[in-house]
Amino acid sequence: MPRHLLILGGTTEARALAAALTGTAQAGTPQAGPSPAGPPAGTPPLRVTSSLAGRVAAPRLPAGEVRIGGFGGPDGLAAWLRAEAVDAVVDATHPFAAVMSGNAAVAAAAAGVPLLVLRRPGWAPVAGDRWHRVASLGAAAAALPALGRRVFLTTGRQGIGAFAHLDGLHFVARSVDPPEPPMPASTDVLLDRGPFTLDGERALLRAHRIDVVVTKDSGGAATAPKLTAARELGLPVVVVDRPPLPAGVPVAASVPAAVDWLAQHLGRAAVPDAGPQ
Ligand code: NAP
Repeated sequence: MPRHLLILGGTTEARALAAALTGTAQAGTPQAGPSPAGPPAGTPPLRVTSSLAGRVAAPRLPAGEVRIGGFGGPDGLAAWLRAEAVDAVVDATHPFAAVMSGNAAVAAAAAGVPLLVLRRPGWAPVAGDRWHRVASLGAAAAALPALGRRVFLTTGRQGIGAFAHLDGLHFVARSVDPPEPPMPASTDVLLDRGPFTLDGERALLRAHRIDVVVTKDSGGAATAPKLTAARELGLPVVVVDRPPLPAGVPVAASVPAAVDWLAQHLGRAAVPDAGPQ
């Protein structure tokens, strides 16, 4: 009977973890043979199920099994963990998916299943950055009129309502799927999905005559090209801080660290070696 891992996903890291654990080079791209550290072919050591919220119309699917849609709050998730005999949960949701992270902490404790949060580090400013850190999208909206008139808004389609009352400003809002009203009266929507290039971000900021950028502190391995482009052009950036993590839950900052934690909790036989960290 294979061990069963649930990955709460919707991020690059969640797909990378699913790929590492299922022995695929990239999510959705099977390797020629079994993972070198894995068991013989035909003996699946680990059942990997990734869960997506279902927000994006055409999501990038991770390797392994995928389920889509909410669980029905912490009680629904706890019931799912029991029914599916889940042995461990990795919360690899986006740093701003705070409701899901809170639900996961409550449900995992209720079901007695070990939980790890996989959370990429936040961004750090470097010399030349003109960042204004704020605690929420509402605070970002309050800060904007003093900073600029033409706003590049990269906080995703769900939070655009926080800026809807700012009639005097023009917004260029980038999201994967179209945002829904309410949104600011003067808004150009750019439907696009990363990864983005520095050349592309520079060109975008110039073409739209952007004078202020708004971003969540989504973080990642390197500085985002939009932040570098803003720095080069001397533009202020409003950076929305992350919500706090649930108390008492261990956190891994990288996929190899998460694999290591899983090996400790599920056994080396079930978890392929992720290599050096
Ligand atoms: P959220 O506000 O924290 O969660 C709201 C509800 O959505 C949860 O209570 C849960 O419903 C459902 N949900 C969220 N993530 C889920 C998952 N991975 N699998 C199944 N159900 C999930 O979440 P959100 O901020 O809307 O984010 C939704 C998804 O988009 C997440 O998977 C996240 O990783 C991804 N994402 C979010 C952002 C962002 O800025 N927030 C950015 C990029 C990607 P039930 O209570 O019914 O279980």
